[in-house]
Amino acid sequence: MKKQTCLLNLFAFALIASIPTALAAVTPDASIQALKDGNTRYINGKSIHPRIDADRRKMTALEGQTPISAILGCADSRVPPEIIFDQGFADLFVVRVAGNVCAVPEIASIEYAVAVLKVPSIVVIGHTKCGAVDAAIKNGPLPGSLPDLVKMIRPAVETCEKDKTSKTDLLTRATEQNVRNTIADLSKSPVIKEAIDSKKLKIVGAIRHIKDGHVSWLK
Ligand SMILES: [Zn+2]
Repeated sequence: MKKQTCLLNLFAFALIASIPTALAAVTPDASIQALKDGNTRYINGKSIHPRIDADRRKMTALEGQTPISAILGCADSRVPPEIIFDQGFADLFVVRVAGNVCAVPEIASIEYAVAVLKVPSIVVIGHTKCGAVDAAIKNGPLPGSLPDLVKMIRPAVETCEKDKTSKTDLLTRATEQNVRNTIADLSKSPVIKEAIDSKKLKIVGAIRHIKDGHVSWLK
């Protein structure tokens, strides 16, 4: 545990040492709209793959990063944020973990994006056919550390299992509930809460439909 704390401190020091000189000036609504527009381009086969050239690389190396949004998404290889939102190099601050759950390292990473990089939005994005949520529904024996991860998704499943009236399948509902639970967990952070309260930040949930590529936004 001590070793973990020490590593986290080193990580925090390295992050603070790389504070950018320029900050993003995009509003929360404009940043979310940019993601929606990018997804529309992507699903229509009209991606423009912006800002991925050497000039962009050189500029961000010199001036620092100014991502327009922080994304907390599943590690599933079918949901790469830069591609599904048609964004470029250094546009998104991405944290990916199976089941898009959040513990201290994920919360701290997003806090860095909010407090230091001043991102105007956080998107927590789950996806259809999520193996991690499916494993939490089946709740069977798993190897290694997987039971600990699944345990973090179980509350979403248990919430949905109580609703016997819904006609929507359990995997769909639990995936959405799991996104909502992660948003609730992130929103407990004083750093994130303060930014939301002062209208500098919006936090939203979304689901990526892996069959046709579109992203639906949770109300
Ligand atoms: Zn997944």
